Amino acid sequence: MKNYPETLLEKRKRNCANPECGIEFFPKNNKAIYHCPECKSRANYLRQQEEYAEEFMWFKDFLHNRRVLATLYEGGTRIVTDETLMAFKFKWQVGRLPEWIKDKGIVIPYGKYLICALNATQYQIIKL
Ligand SMILES: [Zn+2]
Repeated sequence: MKNYPETLLEKRKRNCANPECGIEFFPKNNKAIYHCPECKSRANYLRQQEEYAEEFMWFKDFLHNRRVLATLYEGGTRIVTDETLMAFKFKWQVGRLPEWIKDKGIVIPYGKYLICALNATQYQIIKL
């Protein structure tokens, strides 16, 4: 670093804009607001998570449901009940499925796993 007078250096000193960091640093250029690339991507991730909270939740639930179906299927289960799905905290809202169509044989995809309503309380898990 060049030999700036201390006051100038102090002037350039700023806090990292990553809300989880906030460390004091001397930016290499005037536009830098993050103290390292990891803080930049973390802050971007946090901002997007806030901005797209609903989509993040949807995707989290989707991944959870896919894991549940994979676990059940790979464990040999093909027919499941509402109770079993509830025990695994299966999130029906992912399929945007109103109660009244659950018994209409609707098939909902979760990646390569499908869940098909057999009746109001039983479902079949299918792997593509
Ligand atoms: Zn930082």
